[in-house]
Amino acid sequence: MDLPDSETIRLAAPPGDCRVQWRPSVRARRVSLRICPRAAAVVIILPPRAGRRAGLALLRANGAWAMSRLAALAPVAPFEAGGQVAIGGQEHEIRHDPAARGGAFLHDGALVVTGEAAFLARRVADFLRAEAGRRVGALAAGHAAILGVAPRAIRLKDTRSRWGSCARDGTLAFSWRLVMAPGWVLDYVVAHEVAHLREMNHSARFWAHVARLSPHREAAVAWLRAHGPALLRAGPRAG
Ligand SMILES: [Zn+2]
Repeated sequence: MDLPDSETIRLAAPPGDCRVQWRPSVRARRVSLRICPRAAAVVIILPPRAGRRAGLALLRANGAWAMSRLAALAPVAPFEAGGQVAIGGQEHEIRHDPAARGGAFLHDGALVVTGEAAFLARRVADFLRAEAGRRVGALAAGHAAILGVAPRAIRLKDTRSRWGSCARDGTLAFSWRLVMAPGWVLDYVVAHEVAHLREMNHSARFWAHVARLSPHREAAVAWLRAHGPALLRAGPRAG
């Protein structure tokens, strides 16, 4: 199928430009739309025999929905000198100190980033990823000890659709972006995945394990629903 990966579509009603990502799928049964908060785009999923025309027809029929969803997205917070980045839910100023050494580090309530300005956003993201690894590792160790389990490995990823996951082999994976959320939100997501090491399902027994580890289930789920898209849009924009 010769489709571009993405393009901008001009909608008539309501009038506006809409960023579109084309996503051919061999498994899809029908044309469908979803919002990618990180790319601030509408993803159009096309089953094998559907083409661009069918995708655009669905987009135009749902133009009001798409434009309102895109408009509701939090603004992108680029990682730039003088800007802010949340760590554990606390805003930190990003301070560029090209002469200093040591990569990026916390000092005096600020995130100090050394080196060339061109690499600043990358360095902030690298710092957050490493910090996420430290925090997730400590939280997972505590929860695992309570449940008498041990993760096989812990990985940090930049996932778009899930904040955490637990593989059959006991490997846990988390979005490094969770380090920007309040600590109790991160703690809940880690507790959830560690509990899957005892129960690979969402049964009542599973939720009882989660409740032993974290009292913040409802609040954390609500927080992620409200603020998750902003986490996905922080930092250098991908694609
Ligand atoms: Zn789960």
